[in-house]
Amino acid sequence: MEKDYYSVLGIERSATAEQIKKAYRKIAMQYHPDKNPGNKAAEEKFKAATEAYDVLSNPDKKQQYDRFGTQGFQEGGRPYGDDFFEGDLNDLFQDSPFSSFFGGGRRTKRSSNYGEDLRIRIKLNLKEIALGTEKKVKVKRYTSCDTCGGNGAENGLAVEKCGSCKGHGVVRKTTQTLLGNMLTESICSNCAGTGNRIKTPCTDCQGEGRKLIDDLITFQVPKGVRKNMELTLRGKGNVPARGGMPGSLIVQIEEEEDDRLKREGNNICYTLHISFIDATLGCEMEVPTIYGKVRLKIPPGTSCGEVLKLRGKGIADLNGYHKKGDQLVYVQIWTPQELTKEEKDILLSLRDSPNFIPKPNKKEESFFERIKSFFQG
Ligand SMILES: [Zn+2]
Ligand SMILES: [Zn+2]
Repeated sequence: MEKDYYSVLGIERSATAEQIKKAYRKIAMQYHPDKNPGNKAAEEKFKAATEAYDVLSNPDKKQQYDRFGTQGFQEGGRPYGDDFFEGDLNDLFQDSPFSSFFGGGRRTKRSSNYGEDLRIRIKLNLKEIALGTEKKVKVKRYTSCDTCGGNGAENGLAVEKCGSCKGHGVVRKTTQTLLGNMLTESICSNCAGTGNRIKTPCTDCQGEGRKLIDDLITFQVPKGVRKNMELTLRGKGNVPARGGMPGSLIVQIEEEEDDRLKREGNNICYTLHISFIDATLGCEMEVPTIYGKVRLKIPPGTSCGEVLKLRGKGIADLNGYHKKGDQLVYVQIWTPQELTKEEKDILLSLRDSPNFIPKPNKKEESFFERIKSFFQG
């Protein structure tokens, strides 16, 4: 059905841009759903007026409408049917000069206008990496000014179209190149891409539309992260001056060195020093892991450099592609540095005993080959 956008707004076809704006503003203020909760008729009027304004306030769309009517929008551009409004009604205000007219920090229309990303580094210990953790960080960042809703104008009201870009937020320039004329678009520097000019700056933010605050940000670190990985927290960066989308907070991961446990991929390596007596007779030792202490059985006849595996005591794979890591315990046999006379005598009596004469069997690989087989297995 053909719609008459002019009669919807109650204006003549010859109405000026200023008159169109005024007419819409009047209707919008009267029938906005926030002011008429549950009133279907008001909502319909509001939708119709917003649709009309969306077209008539845009010179290109207006010209198309004047020539072809609403049919002009069926092809190419998005259709202007009723379901056009099924989304958030407030989205429509992003395309209007009243972007923050109804309060609540409406964003301006330039979605390309993003604020800067911020970067921080956090140090995690192995336990936090293995189990995942919640982190709270304090970040100095720009957030939208509540007083003006982010557009920088007093009470968020007195905003006019920017003269340099005619409210488009972008300026077009034709440059001559070898390949012919090239049309380039760039963000209007006069209004920082907002398309708005401020009459009276907001006193709270001096017209910047944003304020620097100490923000306490809480986020989850997933299990299995690694050094130099980056977590991107969207929307937690700076809000650009005079409205737009906030940038991201990029969190770079650092690993805290552990005195005893070393990370090797998703495995944890630990060196255990035992006496040659314990290695010979076998024993049970307490071993630290990231999940707490565990008791480890050292079988009798364990050689120096042998690697014992504590299954599943490593780090979970971040993507779940690989199995969880293990803890590898490297057995080192510690040689006494001092002996009493009695100790020395006992050892001397054992020296020539046949069992103490080294005779490595064939299956005993070299130290390095054994380590290699562990990383492969
Ligand atoms: Zn402000
Ligand atoms: Zn501009």
